[in-house]
Amino acid sequence: MGTGDTNTAELRDFIRDIVRGDLEAGRAASVVTRFPPEPNGHLHIGHAKSICLNFGIAEEFGGRCHLRYDDTNPAKEEAEFIDAIAQDVRWLGFDWGEHRYFASDNFEQLYDWAVHLIEAGKAYIDDQSGDEIRANRGTLSEPGKNSPWRERTREENLDLFARMRAGEFDEGARVLRAKIDMGSGNINLRDPVLYRIVHAPHPRTGEDWHIYPTYDFAHGQSDAIEGVTHSLCTLEFADHRPLYDWLIDNLPVPARPRQYEFSRLNLSHTVLSKRRLIELVEGGHVEGWDDPRMPTLSGLRRRGYPPAAIRDFARRVGVTRSDNVVEMALLEHCARELMNKTAERRMAVLHPLKVVIENYPEGRWEDIEAINNPEDGRAGRRKVPFSRVIYIERDDFMKDPPRKFFRLAPGREVRLRYAYFITCREAVEDEAGDIVELRCTYDPQTRGGNAPDGRKVRGTIHWVSAQHAANAQVRLYDTLFSEVEPSTGDDFLAGLNPGSLDVLNGCKLEPALAHAAHGVPVQFERNGYFCLDETSTPERLVFNRTVPLRDSWAKIQARARG
Ligand code: ATP
Ligand code: MG
Repeated sequence: MGTGDTNTAELRDFIRDIVRGDLEAGRAASVVTRFPPEPNGHLHIGHAKSICLNFGIAEEFGGRCHLRYDDTNPAKEEAEFIDAIAQDVRWLGFDWGEHRYFASDNFEQLYDWAVHLIEAGKAYIDDQSGDEIRANRGTLSEPGKNSPWRERTREENLDLFARMRAGEFDEGARVLRAKIDMGSGNINLRDPVLYRIVHAPHPRTGEDWHIYPTYDFAHGQSDAIEGVTHSLCTLEFADHRPLYDWLIDNLPVPARPRQYEFSRLNLSHTVLSKRRLIELVEGGHVEGWDDPRMPTLSGLRRRGYPPAAIRDFARRVGVTRSDNVVEMALLEHCARELMNKTAERRMAVLHPLKVVIENYPEGRWEDIEAINNPEDGRAGRRKVPFSRVIYIERDDFMKDPPRKFFRLAPGREVRLRYAYFITCREAVEDEAGDIVELRCTYDPQTRGGNAPDGRKVRGTIHWVSAQHAANAQVRLYDTLFSEVEPSTGDDFLAGLNPGSLDVLNGCKLEPALAHAAHGVPVQFERNGYFCLDETSTPERLVFNRTVPLRDSWAKIQARARG
């Protein structure tokens, strides 16, 4: 296994230090981690941080990482997510081998351990309603109140628990709670709920169960069953750790995993809460989970992000216990840096303006040689057809150019990339005064883009031959939310960026792009990095812009340095 990333500098962070220390001191024979998604939605870039951490550590220290589905809540889970999650993890470059597990595989064992707690007098059936349990839990400053059902006999508890399992009671009628301490300073230790009644079919166990373990009861015990040594989770679980340890201490589990917490990834200009992402999809505010504006892994994939760029991003973000918001510009920077080295260059005109080269013979055309990737000599060269009528970008021409505009203008000469110098003789306007066509002449002596007399031009622009062009739709994206830190409250939809999608039709591409391959990034010279959209067909080409060329991350860093 191995992702084959070129950046292999050793990573240091507090979690890797703990793992290294445990291995060196013999507290662990080898490291076992797990990535534990709940199959109630698609994975997002925040999950990528956790995946890269868990699988990365296993890889670096010669251990293994499990893919564990935390499928304990049948009311919100769906089978479609199970496959999509596996696909996303694999796409990101990681492999769990045969170590794919489900918390639901352990339901029988977890039930036996719940019985074990009841027999030991450490768990009881509570008949209070959810509201009563909440009301009696106390607050941060006040202790909770003991349930009136707390002193039930062992026999009664065992009988009721078996009947809960058999489906005799309504949802919410009873729960199983650990008997710990209603006066604890940690609310998680105030007799936490271990099992609740749910009458919903489970994607894997069907109608077998009418009770389901809570996250707290399933998680640490599943870790122990699988032999996980380091159970890595996000900071919101830090207060659950004493309960995690209490359960491990009080159950005959086969191993002693330990939980460590790190801070979640927060990314600017987007939301990373699954609940909010579901609302975006279900409310039709995006095309779906894989909409290229979504922070989901399927969205980033469709947008054209190479998985190696996401792994590089995770490395740079690092692992700490402090909360912060990472700039989207950093993610874009990682993609740009990678694709600059790997993506072949092509010419594509997104906002076409027709140019007629009057002294170029009608009916003739020729092949011009172009370099595929100036950053990679092995990428070779290709031929691009040139002819009398070409397209250039609309904003590469100005009728009354300001001082620093060096591209095309009346009477001005520029270089057509790889081809010839052309001079603009006339701008043809329609009745509304819009420019519809340029009449130009070319200098046949300048083939390849240099003048034998040594004369210079200030501007070089890209172009596409009209008769050879492939037509395409090109989709440009901006951030999904306007603000750096959008509200995640119930009003969060108000923060959506109305200009997040710009669909351009009638774009003109050099003909080689008609045969572009899915999943292979390409640079459109001067316009950014692009990829075929997954809906693209040879008859109807659709490209997505992954990132523009301009690097806003460099700017943010320069500003930070002052
Ligand atoms: P959400 O809050 O988006 O609903 P979640 O934590 O409920 O996410 P899970 O499927 O339970 O989603 O997460 C699986 C793993 O991914 C957990 O270990 C969780 O801590 C981790 N994870 C989720 N979101 C992030 C994030 N933003 N940054 C880092 N790790 C994350
Ligand atoms: Mg969760």
